Amino acid sequence: MVEMACRSCRQIFDIPRGVPPICPNCKTPTLTTEWAGLIVILDPEDSIIARELGATKPGRYAIRVGR
Ligand SMILES: [Zn+2]
Repeated sequence: MVEMACRSCRQIFDIPRGVPPICPNCKTPTLTTEWAGLIVILDPEDSIIARELGATKPGRYAIRVGR
């Protein structure tokens, strides 16, 4: 498994090696291994950080995502 972050929604997913990196959330091939800083958001409704990141679902999010 590789931890990959989505450039679009910033959510982090465990992607099995050899599988095309498609974000399960956005359904687009926007995943990258170039990310830094992990934030776990449990309650997006009640989190300033979630708002800042544009996170709408609970999950793990990358603070910085590479191009
Ligand atoms: Zn995404």
